[in-house]
Amino acid sequence: MDFQFTPEQAAFREEAARWIKENLPPGWEGQEGDPESPENIQVAREFRKRLAAKGWLALGWPKEYGGSTGRNADPMAQVVFDEVCASLDAPVLDDSSQPLGETLITYGTEQQKSVWLKGIAEGRWLWAQLYSEPGAGSDLASLQTTAVEEGDEFVINGSKTWNSAYIGADMGFLLARTSTDTPRHRGISLLLVDLKSPGIQVSKLPLMGGGHRGLVYLDNVRVPKANLVGERDRGWSIALALLDRERSSVAQAARCQRLLERLIALGKEVPGPDGRPVASNPVMRHRLAQAATEVEILRVLGYQVTWMQGQGYIATNEASICKVLGAEVLQKVALIGMQMIGLYQNLDAKERWAPLRGQVASLYWSAFTESVSGGTSEINRNIIATRGLGLPRG
Ligand SMILES: Cc1cc2nc3c(=O)[nH]c(=O)nc-3n(C[C@H](O)[C@H](O)[C@H](O)COP(=O)(O)OP(=O)(O)OC[C@H]3O[C@@H](n4cnc5c(N)ncnc54)[C@H](O)[C@@H]3O)c2cc1C
Repeated sequence: MDFQFTPEQAAFREEAARWIKENLPPGWEGQEGDPESPENIQVAREFRKRLAAKGWLALGWPKEYGGSTGRNADPMAQVVFDEVCASLDAPVLDDSSQPLGETLITYGTEQQKSVWLKGIAEGRWLWAQLYSEPGAGSDLASLQTTAVEEGDEFVINGSKTWNSAYIGADMGFLLARTSTDTPRHRGISLLLVDLKSPGIQVSKLPLMGGGHRGLVYLDNVRVPKANLVGERDRGWSIALALLDRERSSVAQAARCQRLLERLIALGKEVPGPDGRPVASNPVMRHRLAQAATEVEILRVLGYQVTWMQGQGYIATNEASICKVLGAEVLQKVALIGMQMIGLYQNLDAKERWAPLRGQVASLYWSAFTESVSGGTSEINRNIIATRGLGLPRG
């Protein structure tokens, strides 16, 4: 494997960094508080519009589907871009629209590609992932939401939880049971649902670190058959392929790196119990060095998964490794931050003396969800054990 970026990718990194700095909201110093607060979502939507106008929302896609001109469908262009965004704290929306688009490129009909890919590349919608249900999380195949064919439509009944519908998503990609007399992984289909459809109600679930997720109730919601992705009853493998793409996000490494750099700078200022800068404490230095090493490993693993996906390989267990490590490294870096700032962690983000504008404490609390959302670490470890190491299923 070649660890060097090509001259084109390196040049794009510089171009992207320049453009992002010029297009960030005036006086931008990074998001404050919950990334999914209405204010932060509004800022991110505005930024997304700018990205769409620039043609940078679907960088790695083929040109005919709205991919960026001249990038030659290079999946690493997206990686470079995600890294630059994360390192500059750009207000990007992480709503799975890119993995969804890539999934539609593989499984969608020509008509779906022409409608949805163009709209996704133009940033027209904010998407919610409607997989989990109150009674179906890790054991997703036990989902109970049904979609019954009636004429040219599917009629959907059920409920979906923990999604981003509450923060104003426009569309959802939803898993529903379309057959009951088949093995349970077989009778599931993936449908694209307009969240403004009659029969949809959304309530909120508060999160420990601030912010909310949505609980969506679907009561006889009608969806055109044209919104079925792939074959009826065969949505399970498509939904999992989408998850693989989500789990391999390299932006997580850049996010950890950014936080680590800030903590190192902070540690040179903040005095420890002995009155000397906390970063001069050998234990703290060791923790920072260990975390820096793990961030580097995470980055390289992310590159590997992107490369594999770009070559057409299915990178399921590799993506799971990234997901588990990404959650753990972020939690570790956030914990180091809390140890470094000590009692200052209790200050409100708006307080003058709150270190890094309260980002450490808010990240620490929200980072707990990283090892739950998108599949728990235990489930991902099961995938690594069975698919990666060939161990027998328990
Ligand atoms: C902040 C946040 C955002 C989320 N966003 C979305 C979203 O956008 N869309 C969406 O559809 N879902 C979303 N989820 C839901 C998430 O995917 C589920 O919470 C997750 O899959 C776990 O399901 P569960 O909560 O039902 O827990 P359970 O499945 O009940 O698991 C409980 C515990 O048991 C463990 N466990 C379960 N089965 C096994 C097993 N076979 N082996 C070992 N351990 C096991 C789990 O690891 C976990 O620790 C989100 C969740 C959170 C917290």
